[in-house]
Amino acid sequence: MSLHEHPITVVAGGAGFIGAHLCRKLLDRGAHVLCIDNFDTGREVNIADLRPDGRFSVLARDISELAELPGRIVRIFNLASPASPPHYQRDPVRTLMTNVLGTGNLLALARAHGARYVQASTSEVYGDPDRHPQSEDYLGRVNCTGPRACYDEGKRAAEALCFDHVRVAGIDVRVARIFNTYGPGMRADDGRIVTTFLVQALRGEPITVFGSGEQTRSFCYVDDLVEGLVRLMEVDTAPEGPVNLGNSDERSVRELAECVIALTGSKSRLAFRPLPEDDPRCRCPDISRARTHLGWRPVVPLDDGLLRTARWLARELGAAPAARRP
Ligand code: NAD
Repeated sequence: MSLHEHPITVVAGGAGFIGAHLCRKLLDRGAHVLCIDNFDTGREVNIADLRPDGRFSVLARDISELAELPGRIVRIFNLASPASPPHYQRDPVRTLMTNVLGTGNLLALARAHGARYVQASTSEVYGDPDRHPQSEDYLGRVNCTGPRACYDEGKRAAEALCFDHVRVAGIDVRVARIFNTYGPGMRADDGRIVTTFLVQALRGEPITVFGSGEQTRSFCYVDDLVEGLVRLMEVDTAPEGPVNLGNSDERSVRELAECVIALTGSKSRLAFRPLPEDDPRCRCPDISRARTHLGWRPVVPLDDGLLRTARWLARELGAAPAARRP
């Protein structure tokens, strides 16, 4: 029986870090999954184990150029966008267009098929926040002309498109504002803080801390995040407005660096560097809405998640395995 005779779940960006975990989870739940990806930051190795599954197929396509698709599409997750600063700043115009044109195309697809739609938005829509922790009704403090704007404003425009489609076309759209997520499958070179620190620690190199390291972040393990995305898609009634998905266990950057050193048994020292432009001073989600509407909260503690990620990265790099259990 061909894939197109079954109800299909589309995962745009399915060859990326979070997308591949999501595809795997959906297949485990019995879905037929169509991964759409242009392999900009996504990698074949992320989905190689899914390829033999007859319920999994891949369309190598840019969502900015996506038109109609055949088959019975019932669910669409849109995760297609570069997500780390070095990747989204490499071609900022393309990043913005992916988020605007690509999201518009996928929403049109949802409309044509009567499919339910989940948009992967980001905590970056809050910019450098002057409210803490950030709840969904906080409107943010984003610089629309800075080097991060292609991503932050692209994601804000994508959210606007989503809610316009709810108002104008009555599409069942749900928006997840994802906070910093980490886990096995991230690219070692993605420039995000968890991978950067782990790679430096595993190689025994200095760990580069920007600013004083007192700025805070919250880190969500990928399995928790993916569970939240699936719950958001499957909950009967769409929550009104976006939903924060992240871990509210707030840590300073310095604390993260020290935790990584301890977990890996590394001899690395901290090296302090000037803070990049527009770097947020704090980030911590208020996840009350996700708790109430989805019954969701993260369950993987930071030490556990970091250790799993360190072991995976050590294998990737051919480095010595993470030395110690917390
Ligand atoms: P990622 O870069 O690993 O994955 C993104 C995927 O989208 C890649 O496979 C890439 O090839 C694909 N893609 C990019 N542009 C595309 C296009 N024009 N057409 C088709 N495919 C395209 O990033 P990730 O960490 O897995 O992030 C997934 C989503 O979650 C992104 O939308 C990101 O903005 C969002 N998000 C992630 C985090 C995080 O901490 N990882 C935080 C907030 C939001």
